[in-house]
Amino acid sequence: MATSKPQVIQQHQRDASSKLHVIIVGAGLGGLGAAISILLAGHSVEILEVAPAIGEIGAGIQCLPNSTRVLTAWGLEDRLSKHATVPRTCNMLGWKGNKISEMNFHEYEKDCGTPFWDFHRANLHMGLLERATELGAVLKTNTKVMDVEYRDSSDGTSTIAIAVCEDGRRCEADLIVGADGINSKCREILLGHEDPPLLTGDLAYRLLLNTEDMMKDPELRGFVEDPQVNYWIGPDAHAVNYVLRGGKLFNMVLLVPDDMPAGANTLSGNVEEMRALYKDWDPRIPKLLALCESVVKWRLMIRPGLDPTWSHASGAFTILGDAAHATLPYLASGAGMSLEDGHVLGLCLGRLKGKSTADKKRALEVYERCRRERTERVVSRGNRQQYLYHVHDGEEQQERDRQLRRFAGFNGQ
Ligand code: FAD
Repeated sequence: MATSKPQVIQQHQRDASSKLHVIIVGAGLGGLGAAISILLAGHSVEILEVAPAIGEIGAGIQCLPNSTRVLTAWGLEDRLSKHATVPRTCNMLGWKGNKISEMNFHEYEKDCGTPFWDFHRANLHMGLLERATELGAVLKTNTKVMDVEYRDSSDGTSTIAIAVCEDGRRCEADLIVGADGINSKCREILLGHEDPPLLTGDLAYRLLLNTEDMMKDPELRGFVEDPQVNYWIGPDAHAVNYVLRGGKLFNMVLLVPDDMPAGANTLSGNVEEMRALYKDWDPRIPKLLALCESVVKWRLMIRPGLDPTWSHASGAFTILGDAAHATLPYLASGAGMSLEDGHVLGLCLGRLKGKSTADKKRALEVYERCRRERTERVVSRGNRQQYLYHVHDGEEQQERDRQLRRFAGFNGQ
């Protein structure tokens, strides 16, 4: 059934009796998204970010229609669509290059009401930052949150949370939202003990190619001229690629067994080692990798769940995004889940009639109830995808390919 495009949410005006001052820890995609949503609900927002500036970091990011729906509702369609590439299809290929199935993104867009968008992460990040700032967010960089403390409000009806920063500053809020990513300090503060993310056994090589070189090769230029998302799936590894910035850049992610030393999360990769892993794959992959001069290795980790609850009993502290439920990137959905979290949290806080502990607790309970099952399902589905993408050739692989064709309605031609 076709779904219509969402309405843009207008900023709510609220009086002091129900207007919260919210601190968000982390100006990543999840933190900035939550800032927009909470500002639209009529509250005030201050964002504390450890980095010295919001800059040109990262590589490609795919936004599925559930994410672009949220971005559209936040009034970001015009600002972001000019930076987005809209791929025609998603192709699922065997590791030797045989097509298993394809999914027509334009058909999906008709069903979902919003498109697939592929971005350079910096464009998405800046779009979110500009919108949050225009709605009134105050961003404080160079600010590392180390702890959260609490005190009673002066009228005794509510708990005030205090973000204790590394430089000794103490920033007070009616609500603190920890959006500080996979290595979250806020998660540990909430739990009261260390809680490192779990290893998945995989790492990602992430690289960006300049498409000028690709255009010189007749076998590679099609990747640029007809933007599509391509997945090659094979024994113990897979590879993903797509075009960014109107065809100027080509994003590649190679997912392989983790061989990083204990304790390292990102490292410069060895290009020769990476090429050797794919030397027998579809010949277009070694050709693409021959154009690569440097690469970064990312250890892939997850956070399967947070028990017993995402929020502090005071109703003054909660978390979202990777801090709560980091997933393998195999469904291209981690950032999407962070954006959805922020959207739902803003909607829940939009219904507040007062600022008491009971009011805030109720809003946070509804937020978690709306989000927990879906995000836990995405994490476990990401693990399942790891298994399915990486099966070795044989009966199980053939059955997987049959199921993929059935799902996409593709006849293999
Ligand atoms: P982050 O983006 O990590 O932001 C956390 C922020 O908090 C950072 O700015 C950090 O500096 C700040 N911070 C940390 N600690 C503190 C502190 N103590 N005090 C103050 N600030 C702090 N998702 C998709 O939807 N689509 C994709 O295509 C996709 N591809 C991916 C590919 C790879 C290889 C990987 C690894 C991930 C991919 N993801 C994708 C997942 C996505 O990147 C994450 O899920 C998303 O960035 C999480 O956002 P976040 O805001 O929760 O955390």
